[in-house]
Amino acid sequence: MNELTINILRKQFNINEAVIAYVNEREKYILEKFKEIDNIKEYNQFKVIDAMQKCRLTSTDFNWTTGYGYGDVGREKVEEIYAKVFNTEDALVRPTIASGTHALTLTLSGILRPSDELIAITGAPYDTLQKVIGVKGDIPGNLMEYGIKYKEIPLVNNSIDVDKVLDSIGENTKLLLIQRSTGYSDRRALTIKEIETAVKAIKEVNNEVIIMVDNCYGEFLEHLEPTDVGVDIMAGSLIKNPGGGIALAGGYIVGKRDLVQLIANRLTAPGLGKDCGLTFGTTRTTLQGLFLAPHIVSEAVKGALLVAIVYKGLGFNVVPDIDDIRSDIIQGVELNSPKRVVEFCRGIQAASAVDSFVVPEAWEMPGYEDKVVMAAGGFIEGSSIELSADGPMREPYFVYYQGGLTYEHCKLGVLKSLNNLIEKNLIDISKIKN
Ligand SMILES: *Cc1c(COP(=O)(O)O)cnc(C)c1O
Repeated sequence: MNELTINILRKQFNINEAVIAYVNEREKYILEKFKEIDNIKEYNQFKVIDAMQKCRLTSTDFNWTTGYGYGDVGREKVEEIYAKVFNTEDALVRPTIASGTHALTLTLSGILRPSDELIAITGAPYDTLQKVIGVKGDIPGNLMEYGIKYKEIPLVNNSIDVDKVLDSIGENTKLLLIQRSTGYSDRRALTIKEIETAVKAIKEVNNEVIIMVDNCYGEFLEHLEPTDVGVDIMAGSLIKNPGGGIALAGGYIVGKRDLVQLIANRLTAPGLGKDCGLTFGTTRTTLQGLFLAPHIVSEAVKGALLVAIVYKGLGFNVVPDIDDIRSDIIQGVELNSPKRVVEFCRGIQAASAVDSFVVPEAWEMPGYEDKVVMAAGGFIEGSSIELSADGPMREPYFVYYQGGLTYEHCKLGVLKSLNNLIEKNLIDISKIKN
C-alpha cells in the first residue's frame, strides 16, 4: 500500500496503523483466490452481453409508456433478456415487485392452491418467508390461512436429505422450496453442484413436483444458475446481485412458462397476466444493472473473502470458510456477542459513502422475529449488493457481511469495522500485533 493511501486511511478515516498493516498482511493470503472469481465473472459477463445481443436490445427499448403499460417494449425486452440469462422459458421482472420477499411470495401464492403442500427442503426458510408461510407471526393473509399445508426438512451436513424428501412427498405435495443462500443461519450456501445432485435425484423418482429456488444473493456466483440444472422456478431481488447496484427497485421470477403465467396472474390479475404493468422508466437502469452485475458481484465476493481472512485470523468462526466454494455473496462471522455485532455494523456504516454519519441501532424490522441491526449506507436504499452488514440479535451472534460495489470500498469497510471493534475494546489490539 502506497504511503499516500496509508496516510488518507490514518488521517481522514482515523484508522489505527496496526489495523492497516494487519488487513494488508491478511489480504496476501486471498489474492490467489481472486483468479477463480475473475474466471466466473468473465463467463457471466459474456453470458449477459450475449443475451442482450440475442434479444436485439436497442436504445428505443429504454422508452416507456403510461397507464396500463400495454406494449411497453422495454418491459418485454427486460423479461426476454432475463429468461435468456437464466436459461428459462419465461420471466417476470418488474420494478413494482417490492422486494425479494415479494417475488418469493408471488411465486408461492401464484402456484399453490388450497390443500396443496409446500415442503421447505433446506430447513427453515428466510425469516420473512416464515411469516409469509404462516409458521411464525400469525399474520393475516399468510399461506396457511389459505389452507396451504407446510413442512420443513432440515439439511443434513449442509446437504439436502434426498431420501427423507422423497419419503415425505405425498399426494398433495405441490412444491419443494430450496434456499440457496445462507440467510440468517450458520450454514454456507448450497452450491450449484449440490442443488443439481438433489434436483436430479428427486426428479428421477418424482417428475411432477415443482422445485423452486430462493436465489437471493446467489446470482452470478458460479458459472451456472439453479435454473441451468433442472430447477422449475426461481426468484430473487433486484436490489441484490442482479441489479448490479444500479436497479432502483424490483424483483424477478424466472422459470417454466406455465408457472410464470400463474405467477403473473397473481401479480396483476387473472386475464391480465404479463401483458400490463408500467415500468416507470426503469428499463435502462434495470438492464444497465444486469450488465454490470457479474463485475459487481465479483467485487463483493472478493470483499467477503477479505472479511473471512481477517476475522478468521482473529480466531472467529467464519461461514463460508476460506476454501469453501462460494455460492452467495454473504460472509457470516460468528462474533459471539451482541455488542460486537452492533459495533461491526457501525464500522461498516462509517465506511459508507452515503449516510456515513448515521449510527445503526438494533430495531424491530418489519418481517423479522428478532431485533436486527443493519448497516446500510447505500445509494439505493436497503440495497444489499452495496456495502452492508446486518445481524439478528440472537445466539450465536453472527454478523452477515455482504456487498460492496468496489473491492476498495469493501476493504475500507473491513478496516473501519475492525478499527471500531478495537477502539471499543471488543477485540484486543494485541491480537493483531505480532
Ligand atoms: C434477502 C433475502 C430474501 C428477501 O429479502 P428482501 O429483503 O425482501 O429482498 C429472501 N431470502 C433470502 C435468502 C435472502 O437473502
